[in-house]
Amino acid sequence: MKNVIAIDGPGGAGKSTIAKLLAERLNYIHLDTGAMYRALTLAAIKNNIDFDQKNKLVKLAKSIDITFDENGEIFLNGENVTEEIRTAEVNSHVSQIALIKGVREILVEKQQQLAQNNMVVMDGRDITTVVLPEAEYKFFLTASLEERAKRRYQEIKSKDNEAYFEKIKKSIARRDKLDSERKHSPLKKAEDAILVDTTNLSIDQVLDQMITIIEGDSK
Ligand code: C5P
Repeated sequence: MKNVIAIDGPGGAGKSTIAKLLAERLNYIHLDTGAMYRALTLAAIKNNIDFDQKNKLVKLAKSIDITFDENGEIFLNGENVTEEIRTAEVNSHVSQIALIKGVREILVEKQQQLAQNNMVVMDGRDITTVVLPEAEYKFFLTASLEERAKRRYQEIKSKDNEAYFEKIKKSIARRDKLDSERKHSPLKKAEDAILVDTTNLSIDQVLDQMITIIEGDSK
């Protein structure tokens, strides 16, 4: 699949930041699939749907409209929810919703359609393995749990919010476990994905590594 770049990895590895910058550099569209699972989670909270009511959640996934604008802002039924999907409440439930097979089928189909009509950098947990296994470039970004927790902590602090390092670390570890041990489309590195460990790298260094691989190929 030409003009498609797929990136997977655990939370806090830098996927979304890197995917966004990469898309800007290449003039591609960035699609953050985690934001789609988050938007659905937000919709469930707004509609008071319990997270163990699988059928209702699948029905909800079918009925809502999730769209992105050209800046990567995300809209739920026309309302901009870019900020609202990053709350602690959404964080604590999103991986539960992502376990449900029916939910994944609906979102995966949508993601595949988006990739068909656009030049995209798509990031998530199952993009290189399930959504776009034929992508032209596949990357798996990771970093140590300590480093990922540190980044989240600094991000929250920088917005002047209260942050507790140990609590953040625990929450990331819990999501790692749910995402990588689930039955349907677990988080794992595709055999042919290029591994980039970002633990000791700056954003620019990660970006440079990836651009070198992509541009090196096209020379
Ligand atoms: O990437 P982000 O941390 O925003 O993703 C939130 C959650 O959505 C993940 O922890 C995972 O449970 C789920 N997800 C997924 N498959 C994707 C993207 C995200 O299961 N492709």
